[in-house]
Amino acid sequence: MTQSNVFVTQPFLPSLDEFQPYLEEIWANKILTNGGPFHQRLEAALCEYLGVPNVALFSNGTLALITALQSLRITGEVLTTPYSFVATAHSLTWHGNRPVFVDVDPVTLNMDPSRVEAAITPQTTAIMPVHCYGNPCDVDAIQAIADRYNLRVIYDAAHAFGVQCHCGSVLNHGDLSVLSFHATKVFNTFEGGAIVCHDPKTKQRIDRLKNFGFVDEVTVVAPGINAKMSEINAAFGLLQLKHMPEILSRRGAIDAAYREGLAGIEGIRCLPTSGQKLSNHAYFPILVEPGYPLDRDGLYQRLKDHGIFSRRYFYPLISDFPMYRGLPSAQRSNLPVAAAAADRVLCLPIYPALTAEDQQRVIALIRGA
Ligand SMILES: *Cc1c(COP(=O)(O)O)cnc(C)c1O
Repeated sequence: MTQSNVFVTQPFLPSLDEFQPYLEEIWANKILTNGGPFHQRLEAALCEYLGVPNVALFSNGTLALITALQSLRITGEVLTTPYSFVATAHSLTWHGNRPVFVDVDPVTLNMDPSRVEAAITPQTTAIMPVHCYGNPCDVDAIQAIADRYNLRVIYDAAHAFGVQCHCGSVLNHGDLSVLSFHATKVFNTFEGGAIVCHDPKTKQRIDRLKNFGFVDEVTVVAPGINAKMSEINAAFGLLQLKHMPEILSRRGAIDAAYREGLAGIEGIRCLPTSGQKLSNHAYFPILVEPGYPLDRDGLYQRLKDHGIFSRRYFYPLISDFPMYRGLPSAQRSNLPVAAAAADRVLCLPIYPALTAEDQQRVIALIRGA
């Protein structure tokens, strides 16, 4: 019996027929980039869909993070989490900031607010937390600390597209929130990203920075970068947005089936979708704990041997990569909770086209180990 390989994610692709009219419009307009009509329509549509006041589109999430730092003129040290994709800390390095790693909460695996104050120094100017797996950070506690120490808050919200917390979109918290629309994310534009901000003046500054700092044909006001989203990507995003209800309902059903199928297995812990009114089911992380017959890498290998390619997000910790591990805050003794999670976590396949049969294969392999 041959069974096809199953990967942790697979992008949702609308039919080519559906995309054709969008392409024809671009060919007719002959506007390929620089804030063209699809770019404007996608920004407006995302403001409405997400429930946020301003969206500035980007060519990818990493350049959006770097530009977010530049727009607020962040200097010195920035508190962040080691338990994330490496772009979180890399964006700080590219902007000339020093990342200072703060340990995470054992339940949510998000930055632990009770550990933030001890990491603040006179050089600290900002906090960059991550809504890991789309689970909202403790935004109120983080804001209270930021207010007390006069720090800016930039959320890496790459996992949090469409997530709602107790008071509406989680993207409205902090000074800025940054999204990624990479192919592996819940909502994708092949490559892409965005910054969500509160006021039109900040959006104007961000829009200039992503276009070399140009204000008009002859005026450049800042050393900006080229991080503009093209019309093809924006058009694809507009089409993808139409399919979000079916994408989210499929993801929600898969999430529920895992929770049911994995319930009661000794040593397997599913992360709660905590503190959300609306989840995006972006990831399905489990923790392989000591009661389970295999360790995490053993289960990872067992699944792989059967053509199931789960991923160890997030392992290694960012703080264990060579360019960061020399920092005082990168020492594992400073990050015991993140270190334990990195050694135990496994993200299981979750995407709209995942079949019930394949999902049951995954569950059976975990049950039968
Ligand atoms: C995907 C991701 C990014 C980077 O986004 P790109 O669009 O790939 O540049 C940054 N942070 C986190 C947490 C991510 O998951």
